[in-house]
Amino acid sequence: MIVTDCHIHLMTAGAPCDPGALNARMQQAGISGGILLSLPPAAFPFLTPPTAFPRRLENVLDWTRHQPALHPFFWIDPTEPDAVEQVAQCVQAGIEGFKVICNHFAPGDSRAMRTFRCIASAGRPILFHSGILWDGMVSSPFNRPAEFEALLDVPRLRFALAHIAWPWCDELIAVFGKFLNAASLRGSEAPVMFVDTTPGTPEIYREDALHKLFFTGYPVEHRVVFGLDCRAENYDVHWSRIWLERDRSILAKLKVDPATAEAYFGGNLDRFIKGD
Ligand SMILES: [Zn+2]
Repeated sequence: MIVTDCHIHLMTAGAPCDPGALNARMQQAGISGGILLSLPPAAFPFLTPPTAFPRRLENVLDWTRHQPALHPFFWIDPTEPDAVEQVAQCVQAGIEGFKVICNHFAPGDSRAMRTFRCIASAGRPILFHSGILWDGMVSSPFNRPAEFEALLDVPRLRFALAHIAWPWCDELIAVFGKFLNAASLRGSEAPVMFVDTTPGTPEIYREDALHKLFFTGYPVEHRVVFGLDCRAENYDVHWSRIWLERDRSILAKLKVDPATAEAYFGGNLDRFIKGD
């Protein structure tokens, strides 16, 4: 079975670019490729020293050049005054999608919405953080799944909410249903929601969250993607193997059908990046 990781971070400004080492470590973990997220924007100085836009763009492209299994996503702060211009430059340069963490603005913020519309018009997806955010700041109100209903006003956007929005997994599943219903009301103009299961969920919540996600009754077969949240600079083989094995055994125990499991671990990544 092919396994891909939809959620790999570049997190260390100034670290050497070494996709060979990353690929080797991913292979050891049983992962054949995935989405590589650029260094964070200036609003996350506690993660790594802020790096200017052109350097962050160049850096993620350097890591993914001649690496067809690694898909470059640019982590954008959609409220920055030149965000729309950043989107245009990223798309031109070959960025395949965008990452957003709403740490100081709501998803429906008017500046952010303008940026999201540009991303949707360019046919690129957005991977959002969702769920509690370990940032030492007041940020939960921005990251609850229901807040992402705002995206109903971004036609044709493909987006994923990460971490099954833990601890608001139930709310996330309801919001997934809401976007499905919107599609039945609005047709092809409606945004399409995906769920990124990157932990997130502490171990004792995992089976319960996956059970509800796969068995509530919504057609999630092509809308759930597996991710791990490792750092590209030092991909954690041991931790990745544990989570991969845990999910495999939970899906087997829950009797998730093999085609759905296969799509979850691999095939849905392409659906998220490129559309159906
Ligand atoms: Zn992450």
